[in-house]
Amino acid sequence: MDKTVISPKTRNRKFLHKLEMRNVDVHACYQCGRCSAGCPIGDYFDMSVMQAVRLAAYGQEEKLLQSDIIWLCAACETCATRCPNNIDIPGLMDVLRELAVRKGVPADQQRVPAFHKSFLGSIRRWGRAWEVGLIAGYKLRSKDYLGDMGLGMQMLLKGKLKLSPHAIKGKTEIKDIFSGKGKEYDR
Ligand code: SF4
Ligand code: SF4
Repeated sequence: MDKTVISPKTRNRKFLHKLEMRNVDVHACYQCGRCSAGCPIGDYFDMSVMQAVRLAAYGQEEKLLQSDIIWLCAACETCATRCPNNIDIPGLMDVLRELAVRKGVPADQQRVPAFHKSFLGSIRRWGRAWEVGLIAGYKLRSKDYLGDMGLGMQMLLKGKLKLSPHAIKGKTEIKDIFSGKGKEYDR
């Protein structure tokens, strides 16, 4: 991580306000490191989890949006469970991913957002994940046409992959949630 001096002027207050609205209290962090020590995939990140939380507390949205931590985080919740201050670190990653997509910040790990888009596209359309459609969407987006082909064939032969989609009853309600009409389902 570079050592750019962070002054109150360079803080992104809009970003901090967004975190506040989502109850992600990054200011409660006292850098104990329990989150970083417990993260099962922390070795693959380009910054530690506690560094990400500290950058967020400083309102350093841009640095975070360019980091691969926001795409590699598996939302396993281990960090949040270990945090003595109950900081919702997976929630922080969610906010950052949303911002990256909305602002068109290219992801360092292109395959991860390709998977997210394909997964959500399947949920939006069928109300559930239809694996074959999801895989096809992912392959087209990621251009990883041959990866995991052997595994896919094995699953197909064992009947684990259904060739035709199976929609759920509440498909319309799911579509409404995606279109923003689904607020009544929150109650
Ligand atoms: S566990 Fe919580 S308090 Fe400790 S460094 Fe991580 S976010 Fe901060
Ligand atoms: S939620 Fe993300 S950052 Fe937290 S422990 Fe899991 S993978 Fe690591």
